[in-house]
Amino acid sequence: MHRQLLDRVAALIAPPRCAGCAAATEPGVWICAGCREQLHAMRVGRADQSTLAAFPYAGAARPLVAAVKFQGAVALAGELAELMRPRLPSWFEEAEWIVPVPAHPERKRTRGYNQSLLLARALARGTDLRVVDCLRRTALAPPQSEQSRAQRLKLPRRAITVEERAVRQNHPRSLAEFPTKVVVCDDVVTTGVTLEVCAQAIRDWHHPTGTSLVRCVAFASAG
Ligand SMILES: [Zn+2]
Repeated sequence: MHRQLLDRVAALIAPPRCAGCAAATEPGVWICAGCREQLHAMRVGRADQSTLAAFPYAGAARPLVAAVKFQGAVALAGELAELMRPRLPSWFEEAEWIVPVPAHPERKRTRGYNQSLLLARALARGTDLRVVDCLRRTALAPPQSEQSRAQRLKLPRRAITVEERAVRQNHPRSLAEFPTKVVVCDDVVTTGVTLEVCAQAIRDWHHPTGTSLVRCVAFASAG
């Protein structure tokens, strides 16, 4: 069926609403002009040598993250990536791989997808970045949103590892050609511990000669 017709049918069943403020919008419009304006006026969430979070986890940024996580809005991940793009640092363009933070297996099962992977794919669009979904959670820790801050700070170093099979699917050549610049991608960075454990897993895996430079991007930073 024609896409526009599908949009119109969907609009009759559930009128389109802005994912940021729930105001009525046109079909295919995920974020209203008011929310976009608010986001553009926001400061950058976090910017240091190794991490860039495009927005603070506040205002319209909060419901947008929730919408990607819980309402299955795949197209919204593309919108978030476009909002991030003008705020991305030069090192983002220099990276060779973009690796999503792995979802907790239970969450992935109920949701059907990993929102960090959706964001990574959207960010890679139109660039030379290769999306390599190679990180896996190993420890049976509860999903992060159900953990206390203290628990999150103690995420064990081996809680996330690189799955070699997944790397080989993406990168079948010699490991000597493992990229030196990798970007880990998450929707929200809180303490930064998860991103650091992911980065460490990639550095550890890329032994013994590896000097992988692993940096992180996120849509928003909380705390
Ligand atoms: Zn809005």
